[in-house]
Amino acid sequence: MLNIRRLSANEAGFREELDQLLAWETVSNRSVNDIVNEVCARVRSEGDAALLEYTAKFDRMQLASGAELEISKERLQAALQNIPAAQREALEVSAQRVRDYHERQVQSSWTYEEADGTMLGQQVTPLDSVGLYVPGGKAAYPSSVIMNAIPAKVAGVEKLIMVVPTPDGEVNEMVLAAAAICDVDAVFTLGGAQAIAALAYGTETVPAVDKIVGPGNIFVATAKRLVFGTVGIDMIAGPSEILVYCDGKTDPDWIAVDLFSQAEHDEDAQSILVTQDAEFADKVHASMTKLIETMPRKAIIETALRDRGAIIVVDNEAQAIEMINLIAPEHLELSVDDPKALLPKIRHAGAIFMGRYTAEALGDYCAGPNHVLPTSRTARFSSPLGVYDFQKRSSLIMCSAEGANYLGKIAGELADGEGLQAHAASARYRVTD
Ligand code: NAD
Repeated sequence: MLNIRRLSANEAGFREELDQLLAWETVSNRSVNDIVNEVCARVRSEGDAALLEYTAKFDRMQLASGAELEISKERLQAALQNIPAAQREALEVSAQRVRDYHERQVQSSWTYEEADGTMLGQQVTPLDSVGLYVPGGKAAYPSSVIMNAIPAKVAGVEKLIMVVPTPDGEVNEMVLAAAAICDVDAVFTLGGAQAIAALAYGTETVPAVDKIVGPGNIFVATAKRLVFGTVGIDMIAGPSEILVYCDGKTDPDWIAVDLFSQAEHDEDAQSILVTQDAEFADKVHASMTKLIETMPRKAIIETALRDRGAIIVVDNEAQAIEMINLIAPEHLELSVDDPKALLPKIRHAGAIFMGRYTAEALGDYCAGPNHVLPTSRTARFSSPLGVYDFQKRSSLIMCSAEGANYLGKIAGELADGEGLQAHAASARYRVTD
């Protein structure tokens, strides 16, 4: 049988085992820190020259000048024309569905007026410029382009700059086509820490941006942490996770491949099945044992399931829900008859896939909601990437004379209490009675 932990929520020591299973420390590696510190410092001080040197060293590409880092708009359009029609259609449908969904997230400015004529409110504005990191080291991710670029564009970001490494000069046509569909403003062939530093500090060729989003390997994640403060960042994502809760009535083969779909991301990914039906748990385990042989990424899936996967048998639905809220998974599948009835009880999950027909993979590509989601239990306090990550808010206050008279007295009192005389004076200069 495939090697995966089998746990029962009633066993002695279950909570300790579960805690151990969920523990995930972001890998912090001193040699990576040293490399990233040096790369960022050199890009900051030497600009394009450092970018060219690191691109030659890490991506094995010799470029003659900064200008050669840019992938032209014509090249993006050519990719869009040249990819197979079915791929183009899939990208366009995905982009449109993601756009439709995210347009509903746009926040608007608001104001209200008090009886004395004072107006208060909030003005919402888009970020001016955003950098989008698209990973390209070991694989290519056109879906990352769509999921990160579209919410930024919907928010009204004027300048969206994309970076993607093209190791050995190998360009992924679908990634370029996705950039064309999403109307990205400029694309540079850059990867790793040097790409993040270029977006944060700017070089002769790459413009500095206000916020950097997008996933990447440890060099990218460490660089994002380093430049945070100079620019905003989206999040530091941990390995991918899925928790499937099933009442025992779904085809076990469906559940088995759903669990594989996240495990195939990498060896640290986490797939967990929770069910109250012990016989069904056996059936899913048997399905996994059978279907693993058909998976090209078998080795990665097996390692992920062995080290971080689990099949957990609970007593009843209430215990399953307790488990879900404790684990706060990035992706949650509710494979049950009436998922809507469960919804009010689910408090912590990045995305909730409801019913037997909703495979998590649909959300990865084209359902509409964002696939950039909180991992490592951070769904307890954070949310999927969205339009709101590319908008910011300014407070609005406009006092009438009467309002200034009233508020001046209150502010003066509070300022006296804090010993801030200039504040008190400023507030009281407008008091008339
Ligand atoms: P990447 O683009 O993140 O990294 C490649 C770059 O890393 C290279 O261009 C190079 O500059 C740098 N690099 C590589 N080795 C280096 C070294 N020894 N020293 C300094 N720099 C070095 O691509 P990747 O490596 O394929 O990683 C992509 C990551 O993104 C994976 O971990 C994948 O799981 C993750 N990912 C996550 C999501 C998500 O939504 N959470 C989506 C897609 C990808």
